[in-house]
Amino acid sequence: MNKRILITGGAGFIGSHLCDRLIKEGNEVICLDNFFTGSRQNIIHLIGNPNFELVRHDVTMPYFAEVDEIYNLACPASPIHYQFNAIKTIKTSVMGAINVLGLAKRTKAKILQASTSEVYGDPDVHPQTESYWGNVNPIGVRSCYDEGKRCAESLFMNYHAQNGVKIKIVRIFNTYGPRMHPNDGRVVSNFIVQALQNQNITIYGDGQQTRSFQYVDDLVEGFIRMMASGDDFIGPVNIGNPGEYTILQLAQEIIRLTNSKSELVYMPLPQDDPIQRQPNINLAKEKLNWEPRIPLEEGLKKTIAYFETIVK
Ligand code: NAD
Ligand code: UDP
Repeated sequence: MNKRILITGGAGFIGSHLCDRLIKEGNEVICLDNFFTGSRQNIIHLIGNPNFELVRHDVTMPYFAEVDEIYNLACPASPIHYQFNAIKTIKTSVMGAINVLGLAKRTKAKILQASTSEVYGDPDVHPQTESYWGNVNPIGVRSCYDEGKRCAESLFMNYHAQNGVKIKIVRIFNTYGPRMHPNDGRVVSNFIVQALQNQNITIYGDGQQTRSFQYVDDLVEGFIRMMASGDDFIGPVNIGNPGEYTILQLAQEIIRLTNSKSELVYMPLPQDDPIQRQPNINLAKEKLNWEPRIPLEEGLKKTIAYFETIVK
């Protein structure tokens, strides 16, 4: 049966891919966004589709609609954007969660929270399992995002316990792909844009810090499986690609794939930048029969092809 599905942050990078997938499967999609970091360009191809509705709205304000499912993605995700107005970032995570959970409570919709590996902070457990509580600096520059997302998880758990709301919490690890914002400062988009323009590639610190990069289609598949899973499985569940690379290796791979003449330059490491990050995905494998399918090289090629159409 086709459903009516609300996606907050639907005009963003990940949200727009989720809109595509859910529309393709014959659902009705309400894409709600305030266009802070998202854009109409990301979903322009869906405008005019009778199953697609675009709503300009801020999740810090209540929203009313009758829906079957909610994916709550509204929140700037890159450090540059979430630190631009830190208080607003906290409001978006916390008041946004309260508003969408209230909507889920009234409509009895199932609701999925786009949480983050940032809840683990700079982890001293490696790789990170869902049972790890994290090592977050509550007063650092990343705290508006990390603590906002941690509070949102708490709100989800408590709406479930107190009000019986059907919740799903997904902890997303670094995700990349077409429609990433070219100027959002994230490592994959930065390096690809720099490589395509033969500009210096900016390595923060010594480049030995690691990340695990997941292609966006794998994440969307994880979302869909999580939403479809039984009501007794609420998460949190890690969704990410365990392939771990140093930032230096990523830079070298992008230079190779773009045939770039760029050179590496070293810059200071930002405050509270995690040294290592890699998901343990055993829970997702066991409960959702999910694992990532797209290797880094294949995903980077698709992402480079996208950026070639918008830069140069
Ligand atoms: P994005 O910035 O492209 O998307 C976020 C969307 O939310 C944008 O369209 C933005 O305009 C919208 N938004 C922001 N504040 C809003 C508000 N107050 N009201 C309504 N809309 C608002 O980022 P993304 O990478 O697509 O991330 C989507 C979600 O996934 C975020 O919640 C993010 O925290 C989470 N996440 C992403 C990653 C990643 O690697 N991309 C990793 C972990 C978690
Ligand atoms: N990074 C970098 N050069 C850049 C952008 C980022 O070396 O131009 C590093 C950054 O310091 C971090 C890693 O790449 O160690 C991932 O950064 P990103 O902002 O993409 O994600 P997050 O830190 O949230 O995982």
